[in-house]
Amino acid sequence: MTPRTRPDLESVPAYVPGRSFPGAVKLASNETTLGPLPSVREAIAEAAAGLNRYPDNGATELLAALSARLGVPTDRIAVGCGSVSLCQELVQVTCNAGDEVIFAWRSFEAYPIITAVAGATAVKVPNTPDHGHDLKAMLAAITDRTRLIFVCNPNNPTGSLLSRAELEEFLDAVPEHIVVALDEAYFEYVRPAPGEDLPDGLEIAEGRSNVVVLRTFSKAYGLAGIRVGYAVADPSLVTALSKVHTPFSVNSLAQTAAIASLAAAPELLARTDGIVAERERVHAALTAAGYEVPESNANFLWLPLGERSAAFADAAAEAGVVLRNFTGEGTRVTIGDPHENDLFLDFATKQGREVA
Ligand code: PMP
Repeated sequence: MTPRTRPDLESVPAYVPGRSFPGAVKLASNETTLGPLPSVREAIAEAAAGLNRYPDNGATELLAALSARLGVPTDRIAVGCGSVSLCQELVQVTCNAGDEVIFAWRSFEAYPIITAVAGATAVKVPNTPDHGHDLKAMLAAITDRTRLIFVCNPNNPTGSLLSRAELEEFLDAVPEHIVVALDEAYFEYVRPAPGEDLPDGLEIAEGRSNVVVLRTFSKAYGLAGIRVGYAVADPSLVTALSKVHTPFSVNSLAQTAAIASLAAAPELLARTDGIVAERERVHAALTAAGYEVPESNANFLWLPLGERSAAFADAAAEAGVVLRNFTGEGTRVTIGDPHENDLFLDFATKQGREVA
C-alpha cells in the first residue's frame, strides 16, 4: 500500500520530554520549582472569563510590553507557543527540503527533530572536549546549502557559555544570507566571569540583520506550563515568521500571563540569584564528591558520565529524584530549591562513593 504519511518521517523520533512520577522530585526539565506569583495567577484567572473569544493573533499588548521592557520596536518582535515553536518556524521560513541547518551537538534535543520534520538536513558539529560550542568547526561546516545556524547560549544540556567576543567574531564570519538563531532560553541565569561582558544577544544582534534572538517565559519567568516565548529579529524575518505561525497558537491566558510576568520582572529575575547560588553550591558539592562537572551558566548542571549515565539516572529515579538521561553521554540535573537539591546531593554523594 502507498504509505499515508511521509516515508522520511519514519526515522524521525518524537520529542521525549522529561518524565516524572507522583511523589518524585523532578529535576528533569529545567523548570522553576516556585509557581507563578499571585499577581500572575490573578491575571490568568481574570483572563479566563474571556475564553469564549479567540486570542489576539497579533499579541498587540504583549508586543508592546516586550517592546517597553527590551527597548526594541514591536516590528522586531514575534511571539510563539514557547520558544521551541519559534525554533520550528525559523526552520520553516529558511529551509527548503535538502537545505542544511548547523548546530552544536550535543545541544537542545528539538533542533534535529524540527530540522528533519522540515525535510532539511541537520549538520551536527561535536562540542569541544570542555563541552562548549566549537565555533571554528561550525564555521567550517557552512556549505552552499546552509540556511540556518542555531547557537544555544548557554548551551542545553552542558551549561557552557560563549563570550561576547567569541560570538561577535563568529557572527562576523557567517555570510549574511544565513540566519543565526541565538537561543537564549537560559539567558537570565548567566553570570559572566569577572572582567567578561554579558553576552547579551540583543546587543550583539544590533546592526546584524541575520541574527535572531530567542527567549522564553518558561524558565526564569516560571511559566513553562502556559507556553510562550519570543524572538527579536529583523522586521523582514518577523513578517516571514508570521506567515508560518499557527494562527492563535499563543493563547489568551499565555499572553496575559506573560504581560503580568513582565510587570513583575524585577521580582521574578531576583529569584534567579537564588538559583545561581544553589547552582554554585551543588556544583561545589558534586566536585568535592569526585564528579567532573563543567561550569554552568544555566539552571542545570551537566554530568558527563558517558556509559554510566543511564544507570545513574535510573538509580536516582529509584531514590525519588528524576533527572534527564542522555544515554552514553551524560545526565543533566536541574537546580531546584535547596531541599530538592539536598535530596539529589544525598543520592549523588552516596552513588559517587559506590562508584569510586
Ligand atoms: N531552547 C532551549 C535551549 C531549551 O532548552 C528549551 C526548553 N527546554 C527551549 C528552547 C524551548 O522552551 P519553550 O518552548 O518552553 O520556550
